[in-house]
Amino acid sequence: ESARPTAPGQATAAPAVAPASAAAVEIHDAHKWFGAHHVLAGISLAVPAGEVAVILGPSGSGKSTLLRAINHLEKLDVGHVAINGELIGVRRHGDRLKELPERAILAQRARIGFVFQNFNLFPHLTVLDNVTAAPVATGRLSRAEAAEFARALLTRVGLADKINSYPRQLSGGQQQRVAIARALALRPGVILFDEPTSALDPELVGDVLAVIRDLASSGTTLVIVTHEIGFAREVADLVVFLDEGRIVEQGPPSEVLDNPRHPRTREFLSKVL
Ligand code: ADP
Ligand code: MG
Repeated sequence: ESARPTAPGQATAAPAVAPASAAAVEIHDAHKWFGAHHVLAGISLAVPAGEVAVILGPSGSGKSTLLRAINHLEKLDVGHVAINGELIGVRRHGDRLKELPERAILAQRARIGFVFQNFNLFPHLTVLDNVTAAPVATGRLSRAEAAEFARALLTRVGLADKINSYPRQLSGGQQQRVAIARALALRPGVILFDEPTSALDPELVGDVLAVIRDLASSGTTLVIVTHEIGFAREVADLVVFLDEGRIVEQGPPSEVLDNPRHPRTREFLSKVL
């Protein structure tokens, strides 16, 4: 086979080492610019189904942009994302190769849960209605089915007694657990967490991590941005350290957290530990 040179950033087939079918989330050569700022500078990552990836990195390294790209809240300039082997978007420099219609993007997004740092609950809806809103609006479940499932989910996150409360009546940790129940209501195959405990008072962090730990052990594919290193060591199959839009190193926690090879990773860990 000829070794034709490939321009940097040019979209290519999925890497042979990681067949798309094996990964619940596959990111291939992702690039994103905000103006002149190269915020994602060629990220490739595969998270096998049922595994947990934890993304670490300093502020501004591109963690949120990467998560948002997985969910198509941010469009890549180059590269592609595949969920369970299905492409979300394929592009190369300035030259649109293929893009899914908006309808397909929305369908994909409905299969991916997203939990934000600041909960983003609907303030005017009760806890129950926050959790039933999406499955009812998308026609997936009847109102009665959605309510029954929401009660089960809220029980699972320890909030069965709060179903008629409004978000403002809950602590931050309770609100975040509602947000997790809301994400689960669409039965997503993949859940993305963007610093889910960063906005919480320290004494509320544990309850939220316990819920995420429960999800991790239940076989849902999770991609979690967090600075909770002890938690990462416990739940992660894969730890990814990002700096300036690039993956500096990735591997199991025993390598990246306990035996980091790159000085940049060591420096970062010494600051957050
Ligand atoms: P992290 O989550 O690792 O802190 P982000 O992905 O939020 O990093 O941001 C990476 C960089 O991209 C930062 O420098 C940020 O200021 C910049 N950035 C993020 N979103 C936008 C945007 N919509 N417009 C311009 N710059 C942005
Ligand atoms: Mg962020």
